[in-house]
Amino acid sequence: MIEVIEPASAEVMAEVPRAGAEEVDEAVARAKAAFPAWRAVAPADRSRLLRGLADGLEARAGDLAVLEARNAGKPIADARGEIGMVVECFRYYAAAPERLLGQTIPVAGGVDMTFREPLGVVGLIVPWNFPLVITSWKTAPALAAGNTVVLKPAELTPLTAIELERVALEAGIPEGVLNVVAGPGSVCGQRLVEHPDVAKIAFTGSTEVGRGIAAGAARTIKRVTLELGGKSANVVFADADIEAAAAAAPFAVFGNAGQDCCARSRILVQRDALDPFMAALERTVRSMVVGDPLDEATQMGPLISESHRETVASFLDGEVPVAFRGDAPDGPGYWFPPTVLEPSGNDVRVAREEVFGPVAAVIPFEDEAEAVAIANDTIYGLSGSVWSGDGARALRVARALDTGVISINSNSSVRVSTPFGGFKQSGVGRELGPDALEHYTDVKNVYYATEEG
Ligand code: NAP
Ligand code: MG
Repeated sequence: MIEVIEPASAEVMAEVPRAGAEEVDEAVARAKAAFPAWRAVAPADRSRLLRGLADGLEARAGDLAVLEARNAGKPIADARGEIGMVVECFRYYAAAPERLLGQTIPVAGGVDMTFREPLGVVGLIVPWNFPLVITSWKTAPALAAGNTVVLKPAELTPLTAIELERVALEAGIPEGVLNVVAGPGSVCGQRLVEHPDVAKIAFTGSTEVGRGIAAGAARTIKRVTLELGGKSANVVFADADIEAAAAAAPFAVFGNAGQDCCARSRILVQRDALDPFMAALERTVRSMVVGDPLDEATQMGPLISESHRETVASFLDGEVPVAFRGDAPDGPGYWFPPTVLEPSGNDVRVAREEVFGPVAAVIPFEDEAEAVAIANDTIYGLSGSVWSGDGARALRVARALDTGVISINSNSSVRVSTPFGGFKQSGVGRELGPDALEHYTDVKNVYYATEEG
């Protein structure tokens, strides 16, 4: 059995059966058997079934939010927002089956047309930081496009994925179309990557594990999409609304206790604005409410596990000066206070590696060129923000940053209808928006001869 831990109390909150390689093989076999009938479901009927799934999730939204808040240790207000996004995601892709359009292409001697065909069985591997949200980003377009799914949630947070499977069956989605296998990545994830009957792996997780998945998938030429780590920058120019930027910046890095691939964990501040920015940032950080995830007022919960807390703590090595910290409860639970560091530059470990915890590094810059150079000096390229009162400059900098997602005068990273994904070692492919559907289909070209010879 998997003992599922509640990070705020460090106590077991549930036990679920632990799947192994055999259960993965059985799930793949069920998904393979279900594929021909699922791809043949009339587009309007597939839409209706996915809308039913969205309705079923919406009807249980309150319970799902509590489950997610307890299991992932996230504030209940955030968890509620996440379940709202899950419902929205299934509704968005429910419209897709009737919109998977092909093309007709003028050619000599006949008619040429393209079709977007489903891939078959797709393997979805999901992390623990946004368990059901990231599950929905993959499951909804995969099913809409006519694939069947084997879904592996993170072993630390399997509960909402198990609920999703149940709700899908209740909504009338046939047995075998969506199969959840809860078990360790090194066993269940790896088996999915190796399995000859799995056509594609969609993975969200660390860049390190992502590299192994890309290599493993190469053996059977699986399609692969990867959503990996980040070291994103929040770039604050002196001409920005400094109070607004400093009030927003903490939530861009301490949201979800920093366990966010989009965390703007490097805050680059133009030197002229450094003093007022730091003063405003300190006020916000010191007033952050860190505590019980089920309390409506909570803004930040605990980290996911004790071993993860140790990893995060290792970034406070005594060499990088601490500017200030907020409060956090004492144990039990894996608490860590919001922490702001002032490294000497972009070369130290905390500015180069993903912390995945509530630790921000503030780095000053002189001018636009230096801001862009520092922001781009990373192996990652997932997210980021630019704060400036000069619209032309903000757009110029947004264009110059090597990153897949960027927002101006905002923390926003993700909307269901717009593409999300990374440049450089932050990933391959895109989720959400129309783009995701392309990653769950292959293009077939059909030529029909209408002339003799
Ligand atoms: P992780 O350790 O890479 O694990 C992610 C998933 O992969 C889990 O389900 C894990 O299973 C599984 N896994 C582990 N080893 C595997 C293997 N050898 N073969 C196949 N699957 C394997 O990542 P995490 O610690 O859960 O999540 C944090 C990371 O995710 C961060 O780097 C973060 O930036 C990234 N992330 C990226 C995005 C994005 O969209 N770009 C979004 C969220 C998070 P078990 O954990 O059950 O063993
Ligand atoms: Mg991990």
